[in-house]
Amino acid sequence: MKRKYLMTPGPSPVPAFVRESLSREIMHHRTDEFREILQHAHEGLKYVFCTKNPVLIFSSSGTGAMEATVSSLFSPGDKVISIAGGKFGQRWTELAKAYQLDVVEMTIDWGNAPDPERLKSLLEQHAAVKGVLTTLCETSTGTVYDVEALAKTARKAGALIVVDAVSGLGQDKLPTDEWGVDAVVSGSQKGLMLPPGLAFVSVNANAQTAMKNAQCSRYYLNLQKALASYAKSDTPFTPAVSLVVGLKEALRTMQEERMESRWVRFETMAAATRKAAQALGLKLFSSRPSASLTAIRAPEGIKSTDIVRTLRKNYGISIAAGQGDVKEKIFRIAHMGWINEQDLMMTFSLLEKVLRSLGHTFENGVSLACLQEVLYGK
Ligand code: PMP
Repeated sequence: MKRKYLMTPGPSPVPAFVRESLSREIMHHRTDEFREILQHAHEGLKYVFCTKNPVLIFSSSGTGAMEATVSSLFSPGDKVISIAGGKFGQRWTELAKAYQLDVVEMTIDWGNAPDPERLKSLLEQHAAVKGVLTTLCETSTGTVYDVEALAKTARKAGALIVVDAVSGLGQDKLPTDEWGVDAVVSGSQKGLMLPPGLAFVSVNANAQTAMKNAQCSRYYLNLQKALASYAKSDTPFTPAVSLVVGLKEALRTMQEERMESRWVRFETMAAATRKAAQALGLKLFSSRPSASLTAIRAPEGIKSTDIVRTLRKNYGISIAAGQGDVKEKIFRIAHMGWINEQDLMMTFSLLEKVLRSLGHTFENGVSLACLQEVLYGK
């Protein structure tokens, strides 16, 4: 059996100390022992989300928390602007439509970030917009959005701002309260260093007011139910107990490192990755690249899916191909969660080998020299 290396933008690697905590004997969730763990997790989540407000936990993947947010904050017929510059922005649009919201689509070319001025003019054009749905890091394109400016624009127009930070949280800067973001959604399997299975939503006072008036039909994925239980350090349904135990451990290391240091560390890894890719003669896909992952165009005449397949088959290293129309055109390397500098060194050393075997030419070792320079100094 080959050793496997996850360099994908979710799921991402789970450290040994978290895996160990996941294997502890299962406990009952209606006990003081579990409630204490949940309280620690709630406090840790507040720290990582940079908020003083509740962060609610769902036993689902990230999309479950996106769905809970749409159905719990809005009513059928409510007008929302959905910013879609990739697969996950499109998911907001699809979800909002599924709940019969009146969706104004702000579509942008994949690889680009939304212009806050365009959002401003859309908000002027459309009266009574209740919410703006957007993304911190659009994983399908490796693009980070200017959430600070988008939030400011939405707030001025009296609309709620809802941000999908499923892949960005932990790496891309998001001071939720400082930027006035009403609801932030995330998931366990990326920056938070856990297996898939938990999702989170932070809710500020505006979001909590909206929840009281929202009329969309909902039952299990319900922010109001989750908030009522949260107040009692409880969950409305049986939670994924082991994952919550692991969450407490993962959050502890994030608290120890501090968010400000993490944002700098991951941006340095991202800068190193971009420089290494460019040194190989490759072009970046995004005009506003994220600190969480880097999307790279495959060389002319080579399919990105072949690069991904060969790297996995020969060396056990998983990176991601593109999604949608750019499936075969780009490949994506994650630098999130537990992935570190040495992982990037290993990935690029074998990526060089794979690219050469597929016919792409460049100076041997050039990407590694770039990584060494940016990550470890000259
Ligand atoms: N939003 C973003 C930005 C994501 O990267 C993902 C997962 N790739 C999701 C939403 C959906 O999360 P999940 O697959 O956990 O439902």
